[in-house]
Amino acid sequence: MNIFLPIEKLKNVGPKNLPRLNKLGIKTVKDLLWHFPVRYEDYTKTAPIAEIEAGQKINIRGEVVKITVRRIFPRRMSVTTAIVQDQSGAVKAVWFNQPYIADQLTEGTFVSLAGKIHIDKHGTYLSNPTYEKIFSFNPVPTDTTADDSDLPDETPVIRYEEEPANLIHTGGFVPVYPETEGITSKYLRFLIKPLLPNCRFTDHLPEAISKKYGFRELNAAVNSIHFPKNENEAQNAKERLAFDDLFLFQLKALTERRKLNQLKSVPVAFDQKAAQDFVAGLPFELTHDQKVAAWEILKDLQKSYPMNRLLEGDVGSGKTVVALLAAVQTAQSGYQTVFLAPTEVLARQHFKTITDLTRNKDINIGLLTGSSACMNDQEIKKGLLKNKSADGTLDIIIGTHAVIQKDVAFKNLALVVIDEQHRFGINQRAALIKNQGGEKINSLIPHLLSMTATPIPRTLALTIYGDLDISIIKEKPKNRKKIITSVTTPSKIKWAYDFIREEVAKGRQVFVICPRIEPDEPKIGVFLKTRQLKMNMAWADAKAVEEEYKKLSKEIFPDLKVAMLHGKMKPKDKNRIMEDFKNGVFNILVSTSVIEVGVDVPNATVMAIESAERFGLAQLHQFRGRVGRDEYQSYCLLFSSTADKKINKRLEALVECDDGFVLAEKDMAIRGPGEFFGVKQSGLPDLGMASLANVDLIKKARFEARLLLKEDPGLKKYPLLSKKLESFQRLTHFE
Ligand code: ADP
Ligand code: MG
Repeated sequence: MNIFLPIEKLKNVGPKNLPRLNKLGIKTVKDLLWHFPVRYEDYTKTAPIAEIEAGQKINIRGEVVKITVRRIFPRRMSVTTAIVQDQSGAVKAVWFNQPYIADQLTEGTFVSLAGKIHIDKHGTYLSNPTYEKIFSFNPVPTDTTADDSDLPDETPVIRYEEEPANLIHTGGFVPVYPETEGITSKYLRFLIKPLLPNCRFTDHLPEAISKKYGFRELNAAVNSIHFPKNENEAQNAKERLAFDDLFLFQLKALTERRKLNQLKSVPVAFDQKAAQDFVAGLPFELTHDQKVAAWEILKDLQKSYPMNRLLEGDVGSGKTVVALLAAVQTAQSGYQTVFLAPTEVLARQHFKTITDLTRNKDINIGLLTGSSACMNDQEIKKGLLKNKSADGTLDIIIGTHAVIQKDVAFKNLALVVIDEQHRFGINQRAALIKNQGGEKINSLIPHLLSMTATPIPRTLALTIYGDLDISIIKEKPKNRKKIITSVTTPSKIKWAYDFIREEVAKGRQVFVICPRIEPDEPKIGVFLKTRQLKMNMAWADAKAVEEEYKKLSKEIFPDLKVAMLHGKMKPKDKNRIMEDFKNGVFNILVSTSVIEVGVDVPNATVMAIESAERFGLAQLHQFRGRVGRDEYQSYCLLFSSTADKKINKRLEALVECDDGFVLAEKDMAIRGPGEFFGVKQSGLPDLGMASLANVDLIKKARFEARLLLKEDPGLKKYPLLSKKLESFQRLTHFE
């Protein structure tokens, strides 16, 4: 069978189920067979009916001795009740709203049932069990086998002509799949099982690797992941298939890296004296980690191929000044730097910081955002700024997406810095390199430094950002105090509001972050375009902020000055509110979770987060980093909207720990890697994704990928793998 056959060609896929399957990402037979189970039900043992106990999930087999359908008219419900008997006893099975079952399991039918045993005032029964008929369930004549001869004559010996192995829903290890409305695991098993023996996949994994790790051959692995004999077999298959994903991902990252290293960039001289002068002129002393990171970056800039480095550092760890050091060296060598920020407020803040820190240097700084342009301290026309960028007057151009537009040209761009890189997305980054390089400076590619304040677990970074070098700032500047964090359950809310009031009375300011009220899931079959989806989300953010703003300004703090900030406001208004807040015009700022969080307001000492349980630990930690930027003791109040101890216990982790990397690891263990920025966009298939916490497997994949490329960079000896890699690259480039 052609594995790329569209599923609508399958006999059992009709017009009703087609869009539902598509929704699960299933379009071809291959997709269907690559729709892997999330877990299994163990029905390898059949229980004698007499021995079943309430609460168990079990398989029983027996004869239907009675079946009835009762209709409950006012509610248009039906209840089908069957009595099933084996040699040991009988039990009731009950189905709701499936009256047709009575036509299938007529009295005298032999059936295999799997499900949960309930016990209540109606007695002991199986509720909505999965059922399969057992065909040819014949009592064997007593005189045929010697073994049976010592059984009393009146006991018929039961023999299945069909081996229980043929039961796919109620016997053995039964796969449970990711489902969607209308697509049950039963239906998926029913589709997948008959396809398996008819499909062949060519195994692209080098045999030596499979052997070394004891992986099963690809076809065997696909078979076993769907219908394994036991947990072990399932686990081995899963590892093998996850390894495939991770291995290809590593090969992709490493080959991309190799390609990048063959491109040309301007080498920026490392002028140690100038760097030392710059550092000596700063109003603070750099931390050890800052120095190391700066050194790594300046070393990279010296090379004649593009730097591709990620600077990872907790909020407030001082990444900006490290990047600035690189930009200053670039300027002093006569080249330009672009400094990109995800929001206008952040771009403006960087502009101000950078202008201040370079005041006594002969460096021209520009700012370009959607709404305005500045040069050094002056507001100027956008057109003029663009001219000054193109003719090389400007050394450092700071801005938002506006800088990426086609009409912005450079004379000799050598370095691109992207702040809060996760807000730009991975592909955008690649696009940026392409846009900014090119003909502009004799096809030289600018060096790239991306920065993120979201600590990413090491294994995750190695996989998702496998083509990047990483510098890490773990240390905080010395003058920082630990931020006092508390989890505020609904019963303590009054205390928290009083506390906020006290801080305001002392002259301090307060951030309140609201989580999004999620917009309704689109109906089945409706695919929202990404842009539309983003719009919906921005509206949902705005709504949440407006409601909170109303509550705080009208009911709780009517006497204080409260402002709000969300993405649906005009950039001009946002800037004004942010400026005003910085200047102390407002006491409290209510804001969305995704917008304007990178700002620096040293006078703010309280970060209050509504429904904190809805955020990941790493993200909460990032919000917390917005306060504690001055000598004042600062606080983080995590408002939990639940009294659930287990949920609040997760939040308690923040009370103890203020290491973003540790929190990130915890997050990954609790919520899985999908919650991290860049992971979903990475194009890594589901199984690979699910295995991102498997450090061991990732290390193996990385090790083998390196080894293979070292031995055979063009994968000439592995044509199958090379082809597979090509299609994988195509796939991940066009998402
Ligand atoms: P982030 O890494 O979150 O982007 P910033 O670069 O915005 O952090 O730095 C946060 C604040 O800390 C800024 O006000 C910056 O001037 C200050 N800062 C940076 N490095 C140091 C240092 N070594 N000592 C003291 N303050 C510092
Ligand atoms: Mg920053």
